Amino acid sequence: MIGEGPSRGGAPGAVVTGSSRGIGAAVARGLAARGFGVCVNYASREAPAEALVREIEAAGGRAFAREADVSDFEQAKGLVEETAERFGGVRVVVNNAGFSQHRTLEEMTVEDWARSLAVNLSAAFYTTKAALSHLRREPWGRIVNVSSLRAMTGSDHGAHYAAAKSGLIGLTKSLALELAPEITVNAVSPGYTRTDMTARDLERHGEAIRARIPAGRVAEPTEIAALVVFLASEEAGYITGETIGINGGIYMR
Ligand code: NAP
Repeated sequence: MIGEGPSRGGAPGAVVTGSSRGIGAAVARGLAARGFGVCVNYASREAPAEALVREIEAAGGRAFAREADVSDFEQAKGLVEETAERFGGVRVVVNNAGFSQHRTLEEMTVEDWARSLAVNLSAAFYTTKAALSHLRREPWGRIVNVSSLRAMTGSDHGAHYAAAKSGLIGLTKSLALELAPEITVNAVSPGYTRTDMTARDLERHGEAIRARIPAGRVAEPTEIAALVVFLASEEAGYITGETIGINGGIYMR
């Protein structure tokens, strides 16, 4: 683990689950640039998390790397507590950790279903519950859940993923009602974004995928992160309970 030692000054802590790679890493960079001390969380691959912490620190930001499987409540709690301790509080939670898996209903095991629901939905509940007392100590707090276009369209090869991502939208609206006005809760639902998660699909079917997207290309993680960082800002205080699509217009096709 790098980035040792409590660090004060600037905005307090931001927890970004699954932030060593892809969209989460872009969000971590964006929040660090806004002055937040960022917890760079990963499930098992330490090297990219450490590299990102070094990058953020070299740019003058504050970050530390933390292994935690956020589909386990105790691990999610540990992650939040360490962030609060290091940065003097937690003002932002971005529930981004997730994975997709190609499975038809026939192929899907009970274990596949349970794992997808645990990582893509329950983890957001666990992390948010663990962070609540810290968020309430702040003058304002922000929760951003990373859902998916699949929550709106469904999926013919990942019912567990689509169901979990739809569940995140219900969680978002419910917590927005419950935690207003100081804490806002919103979701983003990205379409195809260039990360490790989509690399294989894009390699095999990139041309067909791009042809269906009015924007003519897939999103870059920085484009999703820009929206998340805005929703996590003080200026976004009048937006709550929303799910904002960011998909290059594919939803209209
Ligand atoms: P990614 O490149 O595969 O990165 C996933 C990140 O999540 C990694 O840092 C990974 O850590 C971490 N992670 C996975 N399971 C975890 C767990 N149980 N606990 C803690 N961390 C965990 O993914 P991505 O494409 O950036 O996706 C980020 C989010 O956006 C996901 O929720 C995904 O469903 C959503 N999304 C993505 C797309 C897209 O096109 N890429 C579209 C819509 C929605 P390790 O490296 O240690 O495994």
